[in-house]
Amino acid sequence: MQPETYDVIIAGGGSAGVAAAFASAETGARTLLVEKFNCLGGASTMRGVSTYCGLYTLGDKPRQVVGGVADRVLAGLRQRGAVSDVQRHRGVFVVFDPESVKCVLDDLCVQAGVTVMLGAMVVAANRQDGQITGVTIADHSGLNDVAATAFVDCTGDGDLLAQSGADTRYGNDGQVNLGTLAARFGGIPQGVSVSAQNLADAVARYDKDRVHTTKDKSVLVRLPISHDLICYVASADYDPRDTHSMSAAERDGRRQVWHYLAALKTIAGCENAYLVSTGPEFGTRESRHIQAKRMFTWRDVVEGTQFDDCIAYGAWGAEWHDRQDFSSSFEMPPNRDAYQIPMSCLISRNTNRLFAAGRLADGDRLGGAAIRVMGTAFATGQACGVAAALSVENTVPSIAGIRKTLRLQNAIL
Ligand SMILES: Cc1cc2nc3c(=O)[nH]c(=O)nc-3n(C[C@H](O)[C@H](O)[C@H](O)COP(=O)(O)OP(=O)(O)OC[C@H]3O[C@@H](n4cnc5c(N)ncnc54)[C@H](O)[C@@H]3O)c2cc1C
Repeated sequence: MQPETYDVIIAGGGSAGVAAAFASAETGARTLLVEKFNCLGGASTMRGVSTYCGLYTLGDKPRQVVGGVADRVLAGLRQRGAVSDVQRHRGVFVVFDPESVKCVLDDLCVQAGVTVMLGAMVVAANRQDGQITGVTIADHSGLNDVAATAFVDCTGDGDLLAQSGADTRYGNDGQVNLGTLAARFGGIPQGVSVSAQNLADAVARYDKDRVHTTKDKSVLVRLPISHDLICYVASADYDPRDTHSMSAAERDGRRQVWHYLAALKTIAGCENAYLVSTGPEFGTRESRHIQAKRMFTWRDVVEGTQFDDCIAYGAWGAEWHDRQDFSSSFEMPPNRDAYQIPMSCLISRNTNRLFAAGRLADGDRLGGAAIRVMGTAFATGQACGVAAALSVENTVPSIAGIRKTLRLQNAIL
């Protein structure tokens, strides 16, 4: 049997993957989006990450620096009353209702004519003459081969990159951003305000010897609609590429969350708090990166490098969570302003017509930690979707062509 054939296949339907698929289809490519879970959204729906960071600059007057697909997502959420106004904590972000995100992303893919396979995992890739010719997808029918001309890896873990023999690296020089399991708590009245410090104090009182818990500080957000409280504290040092390591982290993360609940309940007004959900999946902040034509570095942010192949703006800071002592740090970009991101940090250096977006972007420790957030993932995903679609005709699409198409799709350049 001939395999199903597309122009572009996107592996992974998180923020980057949906943006890539939408942009590829809008550019005119027959596009397949393959997602291993049964809903789109990635971290925004499956890891309890409910704030879009990176869409706005961090100064006193936040300026939106990511448009295009992200704008459509925000518009869809606004229509449902499912997104907050711009909020400020350490950074600037909007908070959204994850159930609404699932439907908004479904609608976007339908509108653009993307074929979406849910509950389908890319498990292998065929490589010939320096490029991928097709992938194997596992679903409940078994293993199925699907062919395409161009590919975008948006799996976050770099599955397609690794399966296809594209160059990758894990973290940076032995350092990898910490993973954390999100916890969602209900039963806290709207009027009760819980600060990061309140929680840290409660955890310190409850777990004096720190035997039950790991991190104590977290951004705390209240969701629109349910007003549930989300926090990111239960952490673990694990390797997401290793199922045994990952499984142990999942088990230990869930164990910890019950202790955080016990600590939370000691805060005035939180006595009736209960656990709505964990994760569902452990939140891996960093895994493999694409080895691209160029590495994006924190120095580029600090020095304000102007790139000839700029395809997006970043606005988030270098947010680092340490694996050894579970501490967090956040370094602001200069003047709390936007910085340029080049296309070359998203293009495989050894595989033609292969691109990678979102947290897979080729970034050094702090540069990568800044551009991995979901607002920026929409932007790098959109750029990769356009580039992949244009590469169907010209193996190496021109930067001018990519930028022109991005502008037509209302991306901010
Ligand atoms: C605890 C935590 C807190 C965070 N806080 C914030 C925050 O407040 N704001 C913010 O903007 N960002 C935050 N981030 C970062 C952000 O969540 C990620 O960097 C972002 O989601 C990256 O987007 P992505 O599309 O690259 O990856 P993901 O959102 O991880 O999506 C990857 C998708 O690929 C799918 N997939 C994986 N492998 C395969 C395969 N082989 N085949 C098919 N599908 C596959 C996955 O199921 C998933 O849907 C946080 C991350 C963590 C872990």
